[in-house]
Amino acid sequence: MKRIGILGAMPEEINGIVSLLKDKTEVIKGMRTYYLGTINEVEVVVVFSRWGKVASATTVTHLIVEFGITQLFFSGVAGAINPTLNIGDIVIASSLVQHDLDARPIMDRFEIPLLGKTMLCPPKEILDVAIGSINELVNAKTLIQLLSQKQQETFSLSNLKMVVGQIASGDQFFASNGDKEKLSVMLPEVLCVEMEGAAVAQVCFEYNIPYVIIRTISDEANDNSVVDFKEFVSQVASRFGVEIIRNLIK
Ligand code: SAH
Repeated sequence: MKRIGILGAMPEEINGIVSLLKDKTEVIKGMRTYYLGTINEVEVVVVFSRWGKVASATTVTHLIVEFGITQLFFSGVAGAINPTLNIGDIVIASSLVQHDLDARPIMDRFEIPLLGKTMLCPPKEILDVAIGSINELVNAKTLIQLLSQKQQETFSLSNLKMVVGQIASGDQFFASNGDKEKLSVMLPEVLCVEMEGAAVAQVCFEYNIPYVIIRTISDEANDNSVVDFKEFVSQVASRFGVEIIRNLIK
């Protein structure tokens, strides 16, 4: 039976998704509230990931073991590393790396102990579903139309795009030009940086659960990162997230 786990890194987005649920019930455990119900007749379990690798890995493990999810959609925000990305763009991970994992000299840099891999890639089938669905939203300008003219101007949003590529995760909020530069030298393929995706990917890989990690760019991972971050998340990214998830659950 199909049961989709929806893991979100923004509490505002979780509230929006929870309001879509039919036949809603709640289970509270381990400082997390799991919301069970259906969206478009599909069974879902929705939960706030909490922030960072340990917290999000624990939450996804709970979704798999306790609630028997059969696939996972993760949505959140990220800081842009690649200079072609703008605030508001959507990134879908085709590979994920833990930029702070370094067990040299006993293993290669970024190698996940015992898995012998430095990066993880979501299964092609679920990745293609997400790419198709989000491409439609972006082409139809559905996301930008969720916002007022004033919001579009405040956050300088005009031509949103969707990009597929590598995401780096680690227990660090990037808010300095120097750290950003170091990350892009260390991992030149990385599009954006966040704090949960690669950890969630590792758990899903180990339990053989198909997953997709989707991120809205909230900042440029540089000295300006903190400016307007909270406002952008609550006014823009969380609404994009709800719309993206609603369209994915069919
Ligand atoms: N919204 C919180 C802060 C959340 S922690 C607050 O108001 O205080 C940061 C969240 O944003 C994590 O989910 C992380 O994955 C993501 N993120 C966005 N930009 C980031 C950046 N520049 N560096 C690291 N993580 C970032």
